[in-house]
Amino acid sequence: MSECIFCEILAGRAPCHRVYEDDLVLGFMDAFPVAPGHTLVIPKQHAENLFEIDADSLAGVSRVSRKLALGIRKALDPDGVMVMQLNGAAAGQTVFHYHAHLIPRAQGSTLSLHPRIPGHAEELENWASKIRFALD
Ligand code: AMP
Ligand code: ZN
Repeated sequence: MSECIFCEILAGRAPCHRVYEDDLVLGFMDAFPVAPGHTLVIPKQHAENLFEIDADSLAGVSRVSRKLALGIRKALDPDGVMVMQLNGAAAGQTVFHYHAHLIPRAQGSTLSLHPRIPGHAEELENWASKIRFALD
C-alpha cells in the first residue's frame, strides 16, 4: 500500500476513469473536475514534482498531453484547453505525484481550482469514453 494515491491508481488498487495508457504515462479523469472533461496526465514512475521528474517521463507527459488535448478538442469541442501543473504546496499542489491538468475551457467562463466537488462516476466515464474514442 502506497501513501501516494496516484501510485495506488497505477497499481490498480484505487479506481480511475482511464483515457490513455502507455509504458511511461497514464491519462485519466480528475475525480473533482473543475470543468467537463478535466483530465490528468501522470508519469508511471513516481516523482513528486517538476524538480524530481526524470527527462523521459517528462517528455512522455508532454507528448501525451498534446495527444489528449487533441482528443479533448475533438470529443468535447471546448473553446480552449488549459494545461496546468503545480509544484509544491505553496503553488497549490495537493497530490505529490507529478501531474499535468488538461482543463477544457469555455469562452468567458470563470475557473475555481480545488472546489472539492466530486464528479459523478457516470459523467466521468462518459467524458473518458468520448475522449478515448476521439484519440488517433
Ligand atoms: P493538484 O492540486 O495540482 O495537486 O491536483 C491534484 C488533482 O488530483 C486535483 O485536481 C484532484 O481533484 C485530483 N485527484 C485527487 N485524488 C484523485 C483521485 N483519486 N482520482 C482522480 N483525481 C484525483
Ligand atoms: Zn506516486
